[in-house]
Amino acid sequence: MDAEQLRENAHLMVDFIADYYNSIESFPVLSQVQPGYLRKLIPDSAPNHPESLHNVLDDVQGKILPGVTHWQSPNYFAYYPSNSSVAGFLGEMLSAGLNIVGFSWITSPAATELEMIVLDWLGKMLKLPEHFLSTGQGGGVIQGTASEAVLVVLLAARDKALRKVGKNALEKLVVYASDQTHASLQKACQIAGIYPENCRILKTDSSTNYSISPDLLTEAISHDLGIGLFPFFLCATVGTTSSTAVDPLLELGKISKSNEMWFHVDAAYAGSACICPEYRQYLNGVEETDSFNMNAHKWFLTNFDCSALWVKDRHALIQSLSTNPEYLKNKASEANMVMDYKDWQIPLGRRFRSLKLWMVLRLYGLENLQCYIRNHIQLAEHFEALVAQDPIFEVVTRRIFSLVCFRLLPHHNSEDDGNKLNHDLLDAVNTTGKIFISHTVLSGKYILRFAVGAPLTEERHVNAAWKVLQDEASTLLARDPL
Ligand code: PLP
Repeated sequence: MDAEQLRENAHLMVDFIADYYNSIESFPVLSQVQPGYLRKLIPDSAPNHPESLHNVLDDVQGKILPGVTHWQSPNYFAYYPSNSSVAGFLGEMLSAGLNIVGFSWITSPAATELEMIVLDWLGKMLKLPEHFLSTGQGGGVIQGTASEAVLVVLLAARDKALRKVGKNALEKLVVYASDQTHASLQKACQIAGIYPENCRILKTDSSTNYSISPDLLTEAISHDLGIGLFPFFLCATVGTTSSTAVDPLLELGKISKSNEMWFHVDAAYAGSACICPEYRQYLNGVEETDSFNMNAHKWFLTNFDCSALWVKDRHALIQSLSTNPEYLKNKASEANMVMDYKDWQIPLGRRFRSLKLWMVLRLYGLENLQCYIRNHIQLAEHFEALVAQDPIFEVVTRRIFSLVCFRLLPHHNSEDDGNKLNHDLLDAVNTTGKIFISHTVLSGKYILRFAVGAPLTEERHVNAAWKVLQDEASTLLARDPL
């Protein structure tokens, strides 16, 4: 690494990125390229001789950016947000600059210790129970994604259960979740060897706003116990992917406790909102959980990736995931004086991700972060009111955070139940390139999702997005009159 070369090139790169943010609204939000477009534009093999950064940046501008979907555009309303910020960016930059691999404490004591401190800070902001803090039996760790978070706790829970019922009892272990639980749990079950027929997917519907019914869970557990199975893991969600449903943690917590099950809460998206006192109620009952996860890389101004996981009993995780090869042995670890995060995750190597979360927490402060969340929720409320005022649209589920689920109403004479109509509307608005929204299906209905959460989004963007939706709906209806 030549420091002067870095200085010169990094300045160019920062200018390039700043210009990108200045012009971000000029790109179609959803990339409009066709599959395989890039192979036609890039040589078949790597160059023999060095090229200039200017040439590479020209290619980024001309060949890469057309194939980018602009998640940071203020007109991005799809899936859930994946925030960037100056603070998060600077943290990423610093992490890339130091480029350490902090798997054990000794490989960079600051990386381990800062991660513990920053997750304690965030845990306190969320008013998580004391046992999740590193000062007790538990602690926090940064995983890459919520998918990794649920996998590692499922492995810990599985092994804990097998120690109890016997190591050959894998076929008896049962996992509970709902039909709204993110697919990452299914993947985790596949990896953990949970028998597919032992994954209980509890049905939800509009009567509970798509949250888990504690009665259904109790029934399912009793049934499984009756046939000699062993309920061991429950995954609840605060802010489901389709519609931000919130499972009733308190009641679910009591059920898992009385059945000695591991209770995990996935708050990947909505966890961020719970730093505001008025939304903290959605975490009531978190004291009954064994693990809790939120993605700082979604709605917390921390550049991807940064998924915060807290566990009540870190030893359960370590028992499942630790290895101790000779080549990693060192005095601090052997003396049990330190935390080695390699034993809390799947890979060995790990990035210095706490730097960017630390930057975000320090450069914004709690009050600004709360304002940030509230602003997006107000914008979503505003969008919801626009939809509600238009008789040809309907708001489909109760909005809780910054996601609005809505649809264009089919005419009562129409043969279409509205699914094709809304599918076509989604296609039409996304093809304009002016906005990007996504969809889901709830109770058999095709529904449009409008997720406010890009850091640059203002009210004018929401109004403009609504105009695009109205215009495209009018065009569709004119083509296919009601
Ligand atoms: N859980 C919920 C509720 C989500 O909405 C998502 C993604 O949107 C995930 C988990 C998966 O997140 P990740 O990409 O961090 O694994």
